[in-house]
Amino acid sequence: MSFTIAIVGRPNVGKSTLFNRLVGKRIALVDDQPGVTRDRREGTGRLGDLDFTVIDTAGFEEAAIESLAGRMRAQTETAMAQADAILFLIDARAGLTPMDRAFAAAVRKIGRPVVLVANKSEGRQASSGVYEAFGLGLGEPVGVSAEHGEGLSDLYDALREAL
Ligand code: GDP
Ligand code: MG
Repeated sequence: MSFTIAIVGRPNVGKSTLFNRLVGKRIALVDDQPGVTRDRREGTGRLGDLDFTVIDTAGFEEAAIESLAGRMRAQTETAMAQADAILFLIDARAGLTPMDRAFAAAVRKIGRPVVLVANKSEGRQASSGVYEAFGLGLGEPVGVSAEHGEGLSDLYDALREAL
């Protein structure tokens, strides 16, 4: 089975860290010219026995502030439209922000399979941010730590179920 996953969420939730974790060294940069903002990275991800194309919606953090919202929206929507499943990330330590809720609304609207991922969950009990996340209407949050490589088997299970 060949499928595509988009990693989506507001800046700083850990999308690129999770991308790197899934892709390892198998990265293929799409927009790698000097001076061009690297908006989007694509690679071959692996999780357990699943191999897939993974899209990191990256780089818009560096966009000019006046165009930030529009670029984020366009890039996220393009990636989601190409994806068979979406990993929607929130930061379990920060709790939900208005921007998380705005992204969640866009994710719900696209109507694709979604796994709600509460990143930065290492070494702690589920925080209030995780309980709040149930209210997003995107199912049960899966706690992971992209940085420490924790929760990946739960992510695998959730992804299999979503596909
Ligand atoms: P992005 O903007 O969503 O792509 O987020 P990044 O992947 O660039 O990560 C943003 C910040 O969160 C960085 O400082 C990462 O080191 C940190 N980070 C990412 N994953 C984790 C995690 O699992 N736990 C903790 N504590 N920090 C993380
Ligand atoms: Mg990033």
